[in-house]
Amino acid sequence: MTEHEDPSRDRLKQHFAQRVINQARQVLEVWQRLQRSEWHDSGLLELGEASLLLQRYAERFEQVEHAQLARQIGQCLQLATDNRGRLNSQLISQLSELMQRLSRTGLRHGDTFEQTVLPPLRKPVYLALQHHEQAEQLAQRLAFFGMSAVALDSANAFRSAMLERHPAAILMEVDFSGPGLGLQLAEAVQEGLEQKIPLLFFSHQDTDTPTRLAAVRAGGMEFFTGTLDASNLFERIEVLTHVAQYDPYKVLIIDDSKAQATHTERVLNSAGIITRTLLEPLQAMDQLADFQPDLIILDMYMPACNGPELAKVIRHNDRYVSVPIIYLSAEDDLDKQLDAMSEGGDDFLTKPIKPRHLIATVRNRAARARSLKARMVRDSLTGLYNHTHTLQLLEDARVRAERDGQPLSFAMIDIDYFKKVNDTYGHPMGDRVIKSLALFLKQRLRKSDHIGRYGGEEFAVVMPDTDAETAKRVLDDIRERFAQIQFSAQPHDLSCTFSSGIAQLGAGLDGKLLSQQADQALYVAKHGGRNRVDVFSA
Ligand code: GH3
Ligand code: MG
Ligand code: MG
Repeated sequence: MTEHEDPSRDRLKQHFAQRVINQARQVLEVWQRLQRSEWHDSGLLELGEASLLLQRYAERFEQVEHAQLARQIGQCLQLATDNRGRLNSQLISQLSELMQRLSRTGLRHGDTFEQTVLPPLRKPVYLALQHHEQAEQLAQRLAFFGMSAVALDSANAFRSAMLERHPAAILMEVDFSGPGLGLQLAEAVQEGLEQKIPLLFFSHQDTDTPTRLAAVRAGGMEFFTGTLDASNLFERIEVLTHVAQYDPYKVLIIDDSKAQATHTERVLNSAGIITRTLLEPLQAMDQLADFQPDLIILDMYMPACNGPELAKVIRHNDRYVSVPIIYLSAEDDLDKQLDAMSEGGDDFLTKPIKPRHLIATVRNRAARARSLKARMVRDSLTGLYNHTHTLQLLEDARVRAERDGQPLSFAMIDIDYFKKVNDTYGHPMGDRVIKSLALFLKQRLRKSDHIGRYGGEEFAVVMPDTDAETAKRVLDDIRERFAQIQFSAQPHDLSCTFSSGIAQLGAGLDGKLLSQQADQALYVAKHGGRNRVDVFSA
């Protein structure tokens, strides 16, 4: 037997390689913490130490990709040190990119690549429900979505779990372990914690305002009543825990004074926020499209046009209706401030402003805007992107694909004979099929693919860096597996198929034409007998 075939040796290697994964988590955790706090030198130091350790483990256990990423992180941090400990937008972007790649890097064993990709911090969710069976069931459903959850059956079990490990989020029933005791328990464990844990409450019955108020005071971010739906819960937890994960905020500063803008940039960069300055307000729309900021800082008085005018122009575009606009100005006339706010501004900060105040305002506003946006752009049944947003993502992906010279494919998916499902088994069963397909697509496609619910039982997928041939292979695989699912139903179980049409981006195509071509390919698939995938050809 050669060394390589010895299974115990392989297991041992696997065991040690796990350390690399743990250390990678450590690096990601430090990075995530820095996103929420102020970046002192000690933060950068801690990140440097964690990534150095990762590099050592990765080299020792032959995880080439991890080692390389750790080295690059180290180089970035060295550049910051050389820059007198100052981060700039470029370094923050680079670090962010490296962290995202790190979070997706799996373990390598010999020649095989294990897809235990490290998803964004796989901390479990704690479920504290009165009925343990219900909690267990919910945990299983969440696992189906790729989220690990632990059902806890008593207050003591909950407390000791909290001591052992902090979860990604807590779902607590108001009456867990006794009437109203769930509220107290959740409040008690949060006490003294530097970082509050996302907390969601649940109650069987619709509850009165005092209870809801108590839930808010106990730190509750969400209140569910009635039946707990796994996909809905999953969606909310995703938003609460993942939205800002490794993605630094981006702020566009529009100011005709270079000195003022540079100062603002420096303050925000020191907090890990990516900035871009625009001295020429008339270019605002181009910059917005290109940079996609989470927030805009706007000067009140500029020669070409003033702040409130520009705010109005920005608000005219549907796409930027909810991007927060903050005025930063020396104007201290309250009436003028109020006027400016009524023209589409969200806040008014008066110069000079304390760096901490500026950072906190930007972070809070940007976080709120991101979570609002996450709600606005998603379809409520499936949690996928809605029609409008899917098309926007397609347009963004098209611009990027053309810039980088990479292929891009767009796929449309439509469930076959869906009317029959509704007619035979009822509308709720139809909904279940739609949700299951949504889930299936989420699990099977890459994180970089954008999945949308295009309409009733129609879906669309934007697939960057993918040619039509590859897209077809992927979708055919999903199609075959989906057809195998048996949904338990009365009078008999059912299974469903779907058809799909794919188009690849070519010269001179815009998003609209591309989606038309995919639609035509879908038509061909339908008329060719359904349950098949076709690629558009002219
Ligand atoms: P095929 O696509 O194979 O040509 O046949 P089909 O039966 O799927 O055709 P069609 O697109 O005409 O029918 C779609 C049906 O989907 C019509 C509508 O009642 C149903 N539908 C649309 N949205 C929903 C939804 O959210 N839930 C449920 N249960 N049904 C929906
Ligand atoms: Mg249809
Ligand atoms: Mg259909």
